[in-house]
Amino acid sequence: MLKRSDLAGKAQTVFGLIDPESLGITLPHEHLLMDLTKGCFIEPDTASERALAHQPVRMENLYWLHTHWINNVDNMQFLDLELAIKEAHLFKRAGGDTIVEVSNIGLSRDPQGLVSISRATGLNIIMGAGYYVGSSYPPDIAEKSEKEIAQSIVREITVGVDNTGIRAGIIGEIGCSKPLEADEKKVLRACAIAQQQTGAPLSIHPSPDDELVHEIVKILQEAEADMTHTVICHCDIFGLAPDTLDTIADAGCFLEYDNFGQPAGVIFVFQDRLIETPSDVQRINAIIGLIDKGYLDQILISSDHCYKQLFVTYGGYGYAHVVREVAPWMKLKGMSDEQIHTIMVENPKRFLTFTAI
Ligand SMILES: [Zn+2]
Repeated sequence: MLKRSDLAGKAQTVFGLIDPESLGITLPHEHLLMDLTKGCFIEPDTASERALAHQPVRMENLYWLHTHWINNVDNMQFLDLELAIKEAHLFKRAGGDTIVEVSNIGLSRDPQGLVSISRATGLNIIMGAGYYVGSSYPPDIAEKSEKEIAQSIVREITVGVDNTGIRAGIIGEIGCSKPLEADEKKVLRACAIAQQQTGAPLSIHPSPDDELVHEIVKILQEAEADMTHTVICHCDIFGLAPDTLDTIADAGCFLEYDNFGQPAGVIFVFQDRLIETPSDVQRINAIIGLIDKGYLDQILISSDHCYKQLFVTYGGYGYAHVVREVAPWMKLKGMSDEQIHTIMVENPKRFLTFTAI
């Protein structure tokens, strides 16, 4: 069992503690092996769409998946180790070094699988701890106290997940529904306790709602989480108001623009909110706006692979997109090499380094 002093100043991959200097170019929010269907798959209403919902992902139904990514079971399941290795390897070949795999309890996390991917590709892989959204919680969570949940998260970081001996290097992605469920509030407070005991980074998946994000920040602050090692994910797709982004930044948290390469220009209603998915150019413009406000050191970027359609195998950009296209596009838009390096290397390194007391 590791102590906090063992973790301090290090990052933790599925192979153990490493010097954060070797993290290099990092994708801080991805999935390699997981099942997103539990609590997230939405069965369509009509007969013909139900047929599409249960087809394997293929060229003939990609047109439909580009606007219905959460309505197809196969699209939401990453169960193929060889496919994961092949896709992750493209990131390595493009110059990438580290993937943070934020699948945790509720997302069919696969510690042994992640070790295999790391060994096959040579990538550093950092595994997630804790719980995804309330709808995917195991049944016993309601009876557990805040302290008991915190203890289980601490164990995943200091001892290992289940009996694998493979340790998590980040708490998250911690799911938050709209409205926030009582047990989700309990889990958030438990994360703060686990963070105090380990110095681990914390990754929060909110839902698209400004008030909810304010509520999450307040709960974490009151529970004395280390806000400077906390990231609020998906800031690019939820259409958050500028003052909400300011609240996140003022609290000291990282702002994550993690949907690079995902379908742009799609409009839909999700959890009573009109979502308009931005293009990568809009994301870059938004990031430049954040830099102008002085938030350069708090920006993280990634491509949150959680649908098969995003894989190169299925016509997507794949894990290499951020390195291969986004970084040059940032330069074209006038960002300096130093700013890009800060966002792709320095910020994730600072975020993923366990803190001392
Ligand atoms: Zn998420």
